[in-house]
Amino acid sequence: MGIVVQKFGGTSVADSKKIKNVANAVIKEYKNGNQVVVVVSAMGHSTDYLINLAGEITQKPDNREMDMLISSGEQVSMALLAMAIHEAGYPAVSLLASQVGILTESVHNRARIIDVKTEKLEKHLSENKIIVVAGFQGITKEGEITTLGRGGSDTSAVALAVALKADRCDIYTDVRAVYTADPRYVPKASRLEQVSYIEMLELARVGANVLHPRSVETANQFNVPMRVRSSFYLDDPGTLIIGVEDMEIYRPVNGVAADKSQVRIAILKVPDQPGIAARIFGALSKNNISVDMIIQSLEEDNANNIAFTVDETDLNSTLSILEEVRMNLGAKEIVVDNDIAKISIVGAGMIDRPGIAASMFEALAEQNINIKMIATSEIKISCLVEKERAHEAVRALHSKFELDDENAEADKVKL
Ligand code: ADP
Ligand code: ASP
Ligand code: MG
Repeated sequence: MGIVVQKFGGTSVADSKKIKNVANAVIKEYKNGNQVVVVVSAMGHSTDYLINLAGEITQKPDNREMDMLISSGEQVSMALLAMAIHEAGYPAVSLLASQVGILTESVHNRARIIDVKTEKLEKHLSENKIIVVAGFQGITKEGEITTLGRGGSDTSAVALAVALKADRCDIYTDVRAVYTADPRYVPKASRLEQVSYIEMLELARVGANVLHPRSVETANQFNVPMRVRSSFYLDDPGTLIIGVEDMEIYRPVNGVAADKSQVRIAILKVPDQPGIAARIFGALSKNNISVDMIIQSLEEDNANNIAFTVDETDLNSTLSILEEVRMNLGAKEIVVDNDIAKISIVGAGMIDRPGIAASMFEALAEQNINIKMIATSEIKISCLVEKERAHEAVRALHSKFELDDENAEADKVKL
């Protein structure tokens, strides 16, 4: 007997029938003698629906009010799941993050969890209740509601698992496992029985949105055994995410991903002097904008061009901050390129192995796909390409690095 945290994503709780299916999965774990804490996302695409509604009212919604709005989706699914568990004859209680005490920093829309109180959870567990917690949301010490960023319920689940010292954290979703690429557009994606935290973290950061990056970061930090598995095939063990030292197989590239949610911004002809990059990126970081790829190239007349990418949701705020910096620096102009996708290869086995970057560029050249920008880290290489060729590029890289599974299971994704 131990504590198990189970997280069910939006597609797993999309309608009442699916919520009943989730109730069965929860009860199965409870009947095995475990104490069960369940984290749920909002039903289906209801978070998107709420975001679109806000967009019909204003193009610049207040961040606090946005959190008040989008945190509501999880309240619906948690109450319905608790009811479904009651209906099946088992005890359950649903709790909002504010009721549990999931404390976050005072930042709206992408807050980080700083503490999880366990008193209330332990009390309900000691009364043998199944606890259903609303994912994605938190509360600041001032009592303000926050959200953790899109896909953040995974992180709620891992944070609860850490706080409760849970034996397992199972992330149930609409795919049967983590694959070497998104099975929606790479039919030959192969299943990963295991993947290391560091590779999974990189994959999640570069667009494999099967897991929220911060959930993997936290699981790695606290060594939480984490699994990605299917809500629709409960006997499938899915993928285990573990420390790299415990990995059995190494290959130079273990996954390929695309991120189509970035934009590239270039600031042209900035003076070639010390401190310029610090001013540009300092202004962005002060406003909580994360910058991804950065490239600086020397222009003539002691001037540089600096190009970088940000998430498209940060485009408007980036442009207004940058315009002020541009004027102060006397830079020529700001140029935006929306037609980009970042494609990346990830693998712990690429460390100290030469030729991986060359093979990546070769695979893209073979398809006549132009590279707009390149960035590398120890276990990842990313290239910016034209948006509409992103999936084709991922498939080409997947084949190049011999990740194709010719006998891949057909029912990887449950729609
Ligand atoms: P949930 O609502 O359960 O949180 P998500 O949509 O956030 O589900 O994540 C599941 C989706 O992640 C899958 O449907 C799949 O299309 C996508 N995905 C992207 N990359 C991968 C990958 N490498 N392996 C498995 N799924 C992936
Ligand atoms: N409902 C939130 C979202 O759609 C959180 C989540 O699903 O993890 O982003
Ligand atoms: Mg998700």
